[in-house]
Amino acid sequence: MHSLLTQNNNINIIPIKAFKDNYIWLIQEKLNGIIVDPGDAKPVLTKLEKEKINLKAILITHKHHDHIGGIEELINNYPNVKIYGPENNQFGFKYQIVKEGDAITVSGTKVKFNIIETPGHTLDHIVYVDKEHLFCGDTLFACGCGKLFEGTHDEMYKSLLKISSLAPNTKVYCGHEYTKENIKFALSMDADNYELNERFRRLQDVEITIPSLLQEELETNPFLRVRNSEEFKLIRKRKDEF
Ligand SMILES: [Zn+2]
Repeated sequence: MHSLLTQNNNINIIPIKAFKDNYIWLIQEKLNGIIVDPGDAKPVLTKLEKEKINLKAILITHKHHDHIGGIEELINNYPNVKIYGPENNQFGFKYQIVKEGDAITVSGTKVKFNIIETPGHTLDHIVYVDKEHLFCGDTLFACGCGKLFEGTHDEMYKSLLKISSLAPNTKVYCGHEYTKENIKFALSMDADNYELNERFRRLQDVEITIPSLLQEELETNPFLRVRNSEEFKLIRKRKDEF
């Protein structure tokens, strides 16, 4: 599918930290802003005001409060903001439902994304992708993957397979800074993996480890290196107990 994806030129992607370890992503095109998963409005409003960016759109990956909790307040501040997200009848705001195979052009900008459904962490989980960037919420983490709150191991395994088939030079923007803990777990199972050891060394003193490259996830992320959903299930269980 990656040959069909859009090349978004002239965008900048900036992390906004929230809570203990969340990342809210700001996609900036000139003075237009698109926010991915605003769990908290305050750090987003501070950043937008500081950079004089006009908020055009919000992209939601899934329903968890730490990804949507700031939306109401952002709407209050930017009443014309357009919101895209997965189907969910609990959301208390107006938004456009997007599904697998949809392509959106973010209102008021030239920025385009394709939607892939990735059930597992939650059943409603979707990710936003272009030729070079993947906003994957809590589906794929750097060297890890999201916990299964709703989906089956088989569903999550298939969701991760879809992500694995994107271009290896895709930059991975996930929803949490869990990388170092994830690498420790990966090393406990794959101690001789050269790339994994290099990754561990390289990130020792790095505070913001995101984005990663899909290529390095394919080489070091244990959840992308399993061969079937049974292996996936085994590793996911070990990680939950790690
Ligand atoms: Zn979540």
